[in-house]
Amino acid sequence: MTKPVFTLATGNRHKVVEMVELLPDLDLQPLPAELEMPPEDGDSFEANALIKARAVHAATGEAVVADDSGIEAEDLGGAPGILSARYAGIGVSDEVNLSKLLREVDAAGGNRRAAYLCALALIDADGTEHVFEARCEGRLLGERRGEGGFGYDPAFVPDDTGPADERTYSELSAAEKNAISHRGRAARMLARHLGAGGREAP
Ligand code: IMP
Repeated sequence: MTKPVFTLATGNRHKVVEMVELLPDLDLQPLPAELEMPPEDGDSFEANALIKARAVHAATGEAVVADDSGIEAEDLGGAPGILSARYAGIGVSDEVNLSKLLREVDAAGGNRRAAYLCALALIDADGTEHVFEARCEGRLLGERRGEGGFGYDPAFVPDDTGPADERTYSELSAAEKNAISHRGRAARMLARHLGAGGREAP
């Protein structure tokens, strides 16, 4: 059986790897190289996911899945949030963004609680829009541990692995991260929606 084709509206190679693992029943195609993406100037993960998805759908006319995601630190009033990719400046490395976040959380001296959030926007070929949102609660360490994942993963310990498990997202296998992650949860909502013939409410 041929898989339904969707353009995956992200240039982030880590997200591409995770989404291909998470949505094995879809044929996820890369962004057309020549496509210029609009600024992500929405005020929520949902708004920014829709900005990306609408731009790709308008350019290609194809069905699209777009991811907007990030991390919110409770001690920082939810920062970096939608600015996660550019917290320490546009084009800076994940390492520099993570250093800034840990510096600020250390200085805040609070409870170090944090949550990852993910909004997945789906636009069908006929233009119908859906957004699936999910979160993963946890806390930020003062140190980095592990080699896997990306972004803020080396300092984030998810609650879902249980109180005795101190491993960061970076120390989990890909399958373990996908089973509990913000992106994994949102992707399963999207897959269930498509499995129901696209008729189910998210
Ligand atoms: P976006 O591409 O504008 O959605 O920005 C997403 C940013 O949030 C990434 O560049 C990372 O900094 C962060 N982020 C989102 N999801 C994850 C994840 O699963 N692990 C680590 N960092 C993530």
